[in-house]
Amino acid sequence: MDIGSDDRQFQTQWYRVSSRLKAEIGETAFENWVKPIKACDVKNAEVRLAVPSRFMRDWVVANYLDRLKELWTGENDAVRSVDVLIQPTMKNKSDDAEGQAILTDVDSGSAPTAEAKSGDQTGSQSNSQSGWGSGSQISAPLDNRFKFDQFVVGKPNEFAYAAARRVAEASSVLFNPLFLYGGVGLGKTHLMNAIAWEILERDPSRTVMYLSAEKFMYRFVRALREQNTVDFKEQFRSVDVLMIDDVQFIGGRDATQEEFFHTFNALVDQGRQIILSADKSPSDLEGVEERLKSRLNCGLVADIHATTYELRLAILETKAEKMELDAPRQVLEFLAHKITSNVRELEGALNRVAAHTQLVGRELTLETTQEVLHDLLRANDRRVTIEEIQKRVAEHFNIRISDMHSARRARSVARPRQVAMYLAKQLTSRSLPEIGRKFGGRDHTTVMHAVKKVDELRDHDTTFAEDVELLRRMLEG
Ligand code: ADP
Ligand code: MG
Repeated sequence: MDIGSDDRQFQTQWYRVSSRLKAEIGETAFENWVKPIKACDVKNAEVRLAVPSRFMRDWVVANYLDRLKELWTGENDAVRSVDVLIQPTMKNKSDDAEGQAILTDVDSGSAPTAEAKSGDQTGSQSNSQSGWGSGSQISAPLDNRFKFDQFVVGKPNEFAYAAARRVAEASSVLFNPLFLYGGVGLGKTHLMNAIAWEILERDPSRTVMYLSAEKFMYRFVRALREQNTVDFKEQFRSVDVLMIDDVQFIGGRDATQEEFFHTFNALVDQGRQIILSADKSPSDLEGVEERLKSRLNCGLVADIHATTYELRLAILETKAEKMELDAPRQVLEFLAHKITSNVRELEGALNRVAAHTQLVGRELTLETTQEVLHDLLRANDRRVTIEEIQKRVAEHFNIRISDMHSARRARSVARPRQVAMYLAKQLTSRSLPEIGRKFGGRDHTTVMHAVKKVDELRDHDTTFAEDVELLRRMLEG
């Protein structure tokens, strides 16, 4: 039986089906995945579509097949199924579209996930569907800004970077697991993504699964509810490289931890690579069982330390260059000094400054920077407290902290006290009277005098100037 015998009628149906799908999935996904599809014919109640590569076929089958079938049945109720064929000779712009989708299409929501890009699937429809769950992807999309060449290496992260590179470039499992840890915004997710990109670039047939620990748990809990844990396990156990980001979230939930532990062991036993990240070292993870901790400690544990001034400056220089932002060195140095919390905030600050100067069309100067980042700078200031300044300065000059508040006027204590007041003025957003109060209830004019005095001394005494600079750096972290 030949239903849509009239090819024109068939093409009209395809046009209507694809238009409706476009409305559902959005322009970008449509351009990348649906537009390249060629509608061939309909035979024996089966619609046949063709795409130029296996990768595209797997993607279309996994994500759109069910919906395509529904829509087509809506157009022509004699249609019973839809099949997607590979026609490698189809040379049109779809090849480009595919490459582009992998490399640039991260924000549109239609980015291929790590597992989808790796093509080691048999090509049979059932495998695609049961293996990766039709429509719902497990692996998170990779961020194409997060590659090795975009990662600035410095003292605080050189070890983690080297470890990540080794694992990404190795053809066999070297360290299992690779455990990256460090505070927020220091580049863990960036390195994880970079590893995934590198592995897939070297060998697209490898299956890399990258996801957050939260998503892992969510999946698992859902599988439990749907009594579908066998499938769940299979999905995780059939990957070459499993990457789970922020595993500190796994702690405490017994069933998930148990499942994680088993999945982990199964993969290690099969010689698959596991890469994990967390905000703490394995030993410090809360609510995690000892046996899991000790397994995590078995591989390579690499930590990313807090940024240094030098690294922050290097990152700013790299990003400014990438943005083609003509930023005076003074501005970058100022930001590297002031925004010390983490790289994410540093980036945010630079972006804000850049956006502002572009929008307003003003020259980028230290003044505009201070103006634009007014609130952010205040927030960062609050991180250094007057108490900390007093403690550090007292330690440095070898006096008692109580001398910061005392009425003693001997120069050996008065000078350090003035330095502390000076630093309090420079590094916090406290007013002069507020600072005075913290130094044994002194008057604001005393603080003003201290600031002037220290400025003078710095100009004339280089050793003193170095002392003050050292303290400032130490306090800024
Ligand atoms: P984490 O996962 O540790 O919280 P991210 O990897 O998300 O941190 O990093 C936060 C932001 O800072 C990202 O935009 C990332 O690209 C950037 N970043 C962090 N470290 C570096 C670095 N060494 N070089 C360049 N960019 C970095
Ligand atoms: Mg992260």
